[in-house]
Amino acid sequence: MEQKPKKIKKPRGKARLIEGKCIACGARCQMSCPVDAIEMNAKEEPVVDTAKCIGCTKCVKACPADALEMFFTPEEQALLKELESQGAAAEPDEPEAESKQPAGGSESNIALWKGVWVFIEQFEGHAHDVSWELLGKGRVLADDLGVELAAFVLGDNVRHLAQEAFGYGADKAYSMESPVLKHYRTESYLRGTVELVNKYKPEILLMGATGLGRDLAGAVATDLKTGLTADCTQLDIDKKMRILEQTRPAFGGNIMATILTETRRPQMASVRPHVMPKPLFQQGRTGVLIEEPFALQEDDIAAKIIEIIKSSEGKSVNINAAKILVSGGRGMLSKENFAKLQELADLIGGVVSGSRCAFDEGWIEHARQVGQTGKTVHPKLYIACAISGAIQHLVGMQDSEYIIAINKDKNAPIFEVAHLGIVGDVFEIIPDLIEKIKQSGAKIVE
Ligand SMILES: Cc1cc2nc3c(=O)[nH]c(=O)nc-3n(C[C@H](O)[C@H](O)[C@H](O)COP(=O)(O)OP(=O)(O)OC[C@H]3O[C@@H](n4cnc5c(N)ncnc54)[C@H](O)[C@@H]3O)c2cc1C
Repeated sequence: MEQKPKKIKKPRGKARLIEGKCIACGARCQMSCPVDAIEMNAKEEPVVDTAKCIGCTKCVKACPADALEMFFTPEEQALLKELESQGAAAEPDEPEAESKQPAGGSESNIALWKGVWVFIEQFEGHAHDVSWELLGKGRVLADDLGVELAAFVLGDNVRHLAQEAFGYGADKAYSMESPVLKHYRTESYLRGTVELVNKYKPEILLMGATGLGRDLAGAVATDLKTGLTADCTQLDIDKKMRILEQTRPAFGGNIMATILTETRRPQMASVRPHVMPKPLFQQGRTGVLIEEPFALQEDDIAAKIIEIIKSSEGKSVNINAAKILVSGGRGMLSKENFAKLQELADLIGGVVSGSRCAFDEGWIEHARQVGQTGKTVHPKLYIACAISGAIQHLVGMQDSEYIIAINKDKNAPIFEVAHLGIVGDVFEIIPDLIEKIKQSGAKIVE
């Protein structure tokens, strides 16, 4: 029997650092290595263990500064030359670890996962605004990646929301309808979402960090065994790695952490309402609507909805919609003193809000709290009265158009974001201000 000539294996080489090019980006190369062949030294530069390196080139691709390259021994270089002269017919050696590497939420090849998806959260057929805000951001991410932006909606008679999603920038919309999906239940929405995701394989999945969104996102990520970054304040694409950069406050808001989901898909992130701007609705914009059946029956779902009791908390006040906010902090000292802030707010057509301390003290209800665990606001005018400006407060109001801060401590951090800072006693300045506005006879102009 004729023996086939043995195939020459193409050398894969080893990764090495190019002196002076590392920018200490935060160990992306180390994170990308499937065989733990990279350690970081004291200067946060990679040290490659050549005995472990399998030449997969993942670290080279992951490096944002092109500071890593593949190198070949003289023998390997000679072999490569020989192969080149033979027409490079040799197969590259399969890197051993690549096939063992877990990749994808439920698929082994992450390259199969394509597109940006946004969950359209709805209640009784009305979409939550955060879904449109996420479509605005999703459009940017999809354009950066050169992929489609899709919306998906679950419910009963919610097709119109899929149509509406086109106006907010979606190219495609998936709707899954059933009486079983009329009201949110973790089990039914989880099954529907996982079914859609496994079938169409989006690389990015965004949800609003609302009560419903937080519940669903966690359940979906657990089921798909993928990563989820909750409460992101910023989302970007690393164009080189084609990966989602998910930024959120960490360690009590003292640092901003950028988190990557490198080896699983979809990359899941949730964003709180009003963090991202809502895009303009484009009348007449259309897209492709795909309707998917939902197989489960009512009897398949353990949780039953007996009654829906609508919460009244926060109904009377919506600080997100206010153009002017008069906000009070711990320095206001009592609930009674908030009456002065209310008087000022009434005079200038504003709404009273406050810091978490003001809420903790029981001076305002939670719906009026601004900040990381409260609301994110973007009014035209934000007047911060006796608020120090802790980072957890600033993340909720620093994008206000104009900020006036009144504080008796000239070093208070609130002055770092204020357009106008008044160093002084709030109990003198606010009554003075009220008096001056009254005397001026100024009227509120909408
Ligand atoms: C996980 C986490 C989440 C958080 N989420 C939030 C959040 O969503 N929102 C939030 O606000 N905080 C939040 N916090 C709390 C935050 O860290 C601060 O403790 C809080 O913002 C401080 O509130 P404050 O500015 O009212 O009080 P303080 O920090 O006590 O500041 C009071 C200020 O009033 C000034 N002052 C006192 N008397 C007067 C006067 N007569 N005239 C003028 N100025 C005066 C003082 O100089 C001082 O600067 C969070 C904290 C953590 C750990």
